[in-house]
Amino acid sequence: MQKPDTPANEAQRLDALRRYDILDTPPERDFDDLVAIAAAVCDVPIALVSLIDEQRQWFKARVGLAAQQTPRELAFCAHAILSPDRTLGVPDARDDARFADNPLVVDDPNIRFYAGAPLVTPDGEALGTLCVIDTKPRELPAPQQQALTALSRQASRAMELRRVSGALARQLQESDWYERRLLQYQGELEASHAALEASNADLTELTRTDVLTGLPNRRAFALALEQAVARSHSAAPLQVAVLDIDHFKTINDVHGHAEGDRVLQAVADALRLYSAGPSGVARYGGEEFLMLFEGPLHQALVQCEFVREAIANLPLGLPLTVSIGLAGRRAGEDSAATFARADQALYAAKRGGRNRVVLADEG
Ligand code: GH3
Ligand code: MG
Ligand code: MG
Repeated sequence: MQKPDTPANEAQRLDALRRYDILDTPPERDFDDLVAIAAAVCDVPIALVSLIDEQRQWFKARVGLAAQQTPRELAFCAHAILSPDRTLGVPDARDDARFADNPLVVDDPNIRFYAGAPLVTPDGEALGTLCVIDTKPRELPAPQQQALTALSRQASRAMELRRVSGALARQLQESDWYERRLLQYQGELEASHAALEASNADLTELTRTDVLTGLPNRRAFALALEQAVARSHSAAPLQVAVLDIDHFKTINDVHGHAEGDRVLQAVADALRLYSAGPSGVARYGGEEFLMLFEGPLHQALVQCEFVREAIANLPLGLPLTVSIGLAGRRAGEDSAATFARADQALYAAKRGGRNRVVLADEG
């Protein structure tokens, strides 16, 4: 027995075989049909689609043979692939030095006749054969030889088709995977956008709120004032009041800073309760507060007096008074100018002895 030679292009040949991804796959109709036709056309008991792997021949399709594979060195097909463009014909294996003492000849399945047409890739690599086998010696007539060659070309095409459609399916699967990942990313992106917007909303709220008292801060007040100016008219004039706690430094000095904070919170609560709604009151900073009134001046004056008295009567356990400067907005005046006149009125209230409301000059 002669062991088959290794083809010159063995490395590329094996690479090509791997690309077909066909070894050890289940039977498929296309290949089963081809071996059935080959067996019938050539009138033999055995027909195979055999692929030559590194150490074995493996059968993608077979009729008349139980084995799924054999060692490569025993394979007739391993000889056939050495000439990719020719069908290897062995009329009687017993008379052929290459096969005479081959166990597949002397023993089961007792091969005597063999004809194998190589399965060739478009690049010319022979991966295996479509072969027919008989247990009797014989010659294959030319028409059947041609039919066998034609069927092997069909088998090669079937393999090529199988490879391409496999690659296509993987590509589709991959693009499906990408699409799903993309959708998932989009979902995550939208969720994080929503979270960002929510935290932006929180931040905006924070930038407008005084932390100690929870009142709007001067920035929020400035906005509310701008909006009030925009909608004010002669029938509904605007008034701005600045309120400052009297001798607050002394409260801090005598009772401590924490107690000072508690007083600030109590004043804020009183303002929230007794004056004109949440956007109408703000903490300007330190121990100063702002009030906005929309209505006639005399009414704002009454409200300021009311607030001053309400704060003076808070049950805080310590004496507490405030001074208030009130200014009515003049026609065409910007809010900063109104505010400045209210501040001047506040100074006048301090100079006048504190615990009082002073109305800014009209003129
Ligand atoms: P006047 O009657 O002239 O307004 O005297 P005053 O002591 O109230 O005024 P002054 O401006 O001298 O002091 C204000 C003090 O308010 C000084 C500062 O330490 C204190 N202060 C400012 N912000 C806070 C705060 O958030 N908490 C506390 N506890 N004290 C504050
Ligand atoms: Mg002050
Ligand atoms: Mg003060």
